Amino acid sequence: MEAALKERQAQIHRTGEEPFNLICNKDSLAGAVSQRACVFCGSRVVLYPIADALHLVHGPIGCAVYTWDIRGALSSGPELHRLSFSTDLQEMDVIFGGEKKLTAALRELIDRHSPKAAFVYSTCIVGIIGDDLEAVCKKVEDEKGIPVIPVQSEGFKGNKRAGYTAACNAMARLIGTGDTTGISPYSINILGDFNLAGEIWMIRDYFERIGVEVVANITGDGRVADLQRSHGAALNVVQCSGSTMDLARMMEDEYNIPSIRVSYFGVEDMAQALYDVANHFKDADLLRRTTELVREELEVLLPRLEFYKEALAGKKAAIYVGGSFKAFSLVKAFRLLGMDVVMVGSQTGTEQEYRELAEITDPGTIIVDDTNPLELTSFLEEKQVDIFVGGVKERPIAYKLGVGFCDHNHERKEALAGFAGMLNFVEEVYLSVMSPVWRFTKRCKKEVGGAL
Ligand code: SF4
Repeated sequence: MEAALKERQAQIHRTGEEPFNLICNKDSLAGAVSQRACVFCGSRVVLYPIADALHLVHGPIGCAVYTWDIRGALSSGPELHRLSFSTDLQEMDVIFGGEKKLTAALRELIDRHSPKAAFVYSTCIVGIIGDDLEAVCKKVEDEKGIPVIPVQSEGFKGNKRAGYTAACNAMARLIGTGDTTGISPYSINILGDFNLAGEIWMIRDYFERIGVEVVANITGDGRVADLQRSHGAALNVVQCSGSTMDLARMMEDEYNIPSIRVSYFGVEDMAQALYDVANHFKDADLLRRTTELVREELEVLLPRLEFYKEALAGKKAAIYVGGSFKAFSLVKAFRLLGMDVVMVGSQTGTEQEYRELAEITDPGTIIVDDTNPLELTSFLEEKQVDIFVGGVKERPIAYKLGVGFCDHNHERKEALAGFAGMLNFVEEVYLSVMSPVWRFTKRCKKEVGGAL
């Protein structure tokens, strides 16, 4: 706690030490060097995996570079999303406006790449100079005959969560414009998985095996045409609720599609996700197929976990992720392995989510909202953790401290969702925690009095 600035202390809670009263969902403290990304980045994270759309960043080149190939989201077909286009605004554009440049860039890129739709992202400087994205997009849309959608994601106008909302607003303009003929009554949209390492293919496979049709992936391995007909699905299944729950709410209001929140990480939550969908449709055959699938998967997985449980029991884990819903699954996954979670936090968690985290974690566990490198360093040192689970910005903090790290975000190449993903996760945790390299780090030297 010593590392936290006075103004930040209300965003840190220790389970069991005081009544729960954590403040969250507010702008980051200026100067605190938050781990959070900007509004624009939040919108890129959500929209980026739509693979057959053109993604044009209207702003200085740095904004595009910052989010270039931001999640390496895999596609089973087109890969237009992996190209990062920018209008590269310069000083003269800032003085005289960037609309002409944007119009020319859109025309050229649409002619060259024939996308199914185009997303045009607004950045800080565009918000300041006041380019009319709406008007430019409308003009090019009329000319080219594809949806050209402005994403109102000026970086300064809130926190990353506002970027998720900007992305959902943009997608809402596509939804409802496609043909829904032939969609099964047992059908879903998968919201909030971004297919970083093929997870959406695993999840789709599970749903298809139990007899549920997936209409649209929103947005991992996403397609414009699927989004356009996604209002024909009977249910929205939302993971990573921070990023796509807004869209689920909009679809409930507009098209009367109910939604459920799930997580695909960890054994319990993956099984629960399948059961929740099966129970929603109230179909005995569907439920039977779900039970069979879960049993088959667990028969393979559980015996293989035994070795890792024995090796990892009692090791300490810290978690810092984008949305806190994922943190619940990680806490449960570490519990299953007999490991202790000593710190858990997120960039964009809600009060309710943190309250629930406080209920399921052990006394003394640090719960933190919107933290920064200095605080994280002090927490990891205080708790002497064996593994830190986070994203790209947390990795160097762990390595500098001589702590094992598991990437659960942008840069990972292993699928960690589903039953097979649980095994990948456990293997990665085991290899990191048990690596002999930690015998040569500062942290371990301290533990053994400097002797190796
Ligand atoms: S939108 Fe603003 S805060 Fe975000 S990367 Fe660009 S300049 Fe930085």
